[in-house]
Amino acid sequence: MAAMIHLELSEEQKALVDLARQFGEKEMAPRVEKHDHTGEFPREVINKAHEVGLMNTHIPTEYGGLGLSVLDGCLIAEELSSFCSGMYTAIEANGLAQAPLLVAGNDDQKKRFLEPMTKEPLLAAYCVTEPGAGSDVQGIKTRAEKKGGDYVLNGSKMWITNASVANWYFVLAYTDPSQGVQGMTGFLVPADTPGITVGKKEKNMGQRCSDTRGITFTDVKVPEKNRLGLEGQGFKIAMGAFDHTRPPVAAGAVGVAKAAMNHAIRYAQERKTFGVPLAKHQALAFMITDMAMNIEAARMLVWKSAFEIDQGRRNTKFAAMAKAFAGDMCNKVCTDAVQVFGGYGFNEEYPVEKLYRDSKIFQIYEGTSQIQRLIISREIFGRG
Ligand SMILES: Cc1cc2nc3c(=O)[nH]c(=O)nc-3n(C[C@H](O)[C@H](O)[C@H](O)COP(=O)(O)OP(=O)(O)OC[C@H]3O[C@@H](n4cnc5c(N)ncnc54)[C@H](O)[C@@H]3O)c2cc1C
Repeated sequence: MAAMIHLELSEEQKALVDLARQFGEKEMAPRVEKHDHTGEFPREVINKAHEVGLMNTHIPTEYGGLGLSVLDGCLIAEELSSFCSGMYTAIEANGLAQAPLLVAGNDDQKKRFLEPMTKEPLLAAYCVTEPGAGSDVQGIKTRAEKKGGDYVLNGSKMWITNASVANWYFVLAYTDPSQGVQGMTGFLVPADTPGITVGKKEKNMGQRCSDTRGITFTDVKVPEKNRLGLEGQGFKIAMGAFDHTRPPVAAGAVGVAKAAMNHAIRYAQERKTFGVPLAKHQALAFMITDMAMNIEAARMLVWKSAFEIDQGRRNTKFAAMAKAFAGDMCNKVCTDAVQVFGGYGFNEEYPVEKLYRDSKIFQIYEGTSQIQRLIISREIFGRG
């Protein structure tokens, strides 16, 4: 009888993990410090990742992509993020912008927006958050008004990853504000459309080379053929995208935590206090034990959330669980890794300081840890 369950990666998946790890060692590691200090966008790394097949992995083969599963994407995410989650965020945000197309795009839209990305290292951005509305997506103000064969977009978006490097945007706007969430519609907007202004690069606490900016849309004309799905389906499409992307984001958090733990393990064996290595002090050994335990648990939740959607089942609850658990876990592990390093942990010459700064965003973007719990509780108790 076939085994009911197994957690063994296939040979192809093991090769994918090796490819991502080797890419991280060769192309990312030597550039991490520079990009963290300068905040410069890692264009070279993106181009090379595209070249070796570590970008756009989920684009279906009929559009020239690799057609890999969400689980495959998570395996790549964990490895790349363990080298630099700032660089990985540029790749992940690309996937987030593409996800609404996977959920609701028609053949023509996939050909025009996804296919070119498999040929060239193009980027995209997902534009939902606004200055006045993040968790409360219903509070957005951007409007899309139908005028002839076009929609005219007006409004401002905030905290948009890849804003200045994207070739196109997924934009969520109200077509009928009187209908609440049922009045929202999603659009695909080429970045060179007149009327788009991209703001200054935000100086963030961590993941500093990731390009985060505001974007203003002033009388931006979008042809009807660039509307995703029907009018009124935008909210569902924009939120449905997260079922595809929260598992890899959670995997990114696992990657950062793994890196922090590995630094802590090495340091605890080298640094001596009271005549013995730190690892001989049980309080510190147990701190690292908890890191190992929680990283393993988070990874299993990531795999489960990816497995569910790869089987064609609704994974919303598991994706939210993976994102919240891994995001919170990553923050605890990075705080404790700084603690293991003592004073050196607080200093930028040592690697855990950056990981600690980078970890915070995993509790915020793609829905905060509180919002993930809101989603999980709705899945348990219903909306009523
Ligand atoms: C670096 C970075 C990159 C980002 N990239 C993108 C992107 O590419 N595209 C995009 O659209 N957005 C992006 N975002 C936006 C991000 O998704 C939002 O910041 C996030 O959803 C939270 O929204 P907010 O900042 O408006 O906080 P708020 O919604 O104002 O929340 C503030 C606090 O209140 C809590 N809270 C809010 N409502 C509730 C509630 N009902 N119950 C309990 N607690 C609650 C939140 O959890 C949070 O702790 C990015 C943000 C950052 C910082």
